[in-house]
Amino acid sequence: MKLKTINAGFVKVDGGAFFGVVPKVLWQKLIPADENNLVPNILRLLLIDDGQHVILIDTGLGNKQDEKFFKNYHRYGNHNLPEVLQENGYSVDQVTDVILTHLHADHSGGAVLKDGQNNYLPAFPKAKYWVSLDQWNHALNPNQREKAAFLPENYMPLYEQGLLHFVDKDTEIYPNIFLKHRYGHTRGLLSVHIKLGNRWLIYASDFLPTAYHIYEPYIMSYDICAEKTLQEKAEFFQWVVEQDHCIFFNHDPYNECGIIYRDKKGHKVKETFTLEEFLARK
Ligand SMILES: [Zn+2]
Repeated sequence: MKLKTINAGFVKVDGGAFFGVVPKVLWQKLIPADENNLVPNILRLLLIDDGQHVILIDTGLGNKQDEKFFKNYHRYGNHNLPEVLQENGYSVDQVTDVILTHLHADHSGGAVLKDGQNNYLPAFPKAKYWVSLDQWNHALNPNQREKAAFLPENYMPLYEQGLLHFVDKDTEIYPNIFLKHRYGHTRGLLSVHIKLGNRWLIYASDFLPTAYHIYEPYIMSYDICAEKTLQEKAEFFQWVVEQDHCIFFNHDPYNECGIIYRDKKGHKVKETFTLEEFLARK
């Protein structure tokens, strides 16, 4: 099984919102904010090539919206996903599966393209797009607080073309690739757990977006239920710490992967490394 990190560009988000209840005097030592209190976020995707399937996890923000929309994201880097894939040796037609961990715009934006006539088209026309049924139902009826993150043009064109594939329970979609539901960040977020021999690599998605969010009090203000995230962290850490399994961070501008440990105050990152380093030492 081949694994590859795909850099789908960068955005900047409000540092306060990103670190929740943690005071700025503490979090700014980890990721310094700019003059507008913004901190950098990468949109880091994972590509899995098992010889039979080419599976892309998440699609970044894409580049089909207008400047007014993008202004709030303070983009930089390359958000043209087909181009980025090409640079990594893959064409859009080679992608057989896209796992949308959830439907927020910074994860589903690249799933659909806009052509010269303003038609929305699936960015991966030959792919099966996986999403949880709970997330789907949630996105169709968003509440006022989460609504701005759900843009129908990011997923309705997929639904209309019959490309969406819904999962309603934790499942192994292909050998050694598991989808696990979570509910603290948004309803029915899917973390992708990949079994590599006797170790696991976990694409946690926004459940654990950076190495800094390992420590219990660090929970994004975007989460719909911080208490649920806390519970999910406790359950997850119990499994992951004992076995030294590796977490892949999808928004961490500095750390790609990490393993964690428990001290008397809670859980922290023990060591961080690139995906390549993890695969080499495995
Ligand atoms: Zn996100």
